[in-house]
Amino acid sequence: MATIITEECINCGACEPECPNTAIYEGGVQWEGNDGALHDALSEDLYYIVPEKCTECVGFFDQEQCAAVCPVDCCIPDPDIPETEEVLLERVKVLHPDAEIPDPPPSRFRT
Ligand code: SF4
Ligand code: SF4
Repeated sequence: MATIITEECINCGACEPECPNTAIYEGGVQWEGNDGALHDALSEDLYYIVPEKCTECVGFFDQEQCAAVCPVDCCIPDPDIPETEEVLLERVKVLHPDAEIPDPPPSRFRT
């Protein structure tokens, strides 16, 4: 599942630079698709995660980096969007076609 940011977010900004997929944006800021197109913000007042860009850090880290740095533990798995490691790994390859992903990949599913 993609990670989500809950209403407990205090807008500290610590998570945004940690995301390997630039999936995190400040509230009110448009998000950029892989094709460079801009899209309306998913939240106007809190940091948010774009589900299409979140891989739960699969391919890069063995833990969600946003959750690791969040001081109020408000980055959590979205129970409404369950996704397998395989699906998330395919997303990594689409988002980073030139990246060399280790096999097996770093993954929260393997810890
Ligand atoms: Fe980015 Fe990883 Fe957080 Fe998803 S879980 S938003 S990929 S840092
Ligand atoms: Fe919000 Fe947590 Fe990100 Fe800070 S680290 S902006 S509190 S989600």
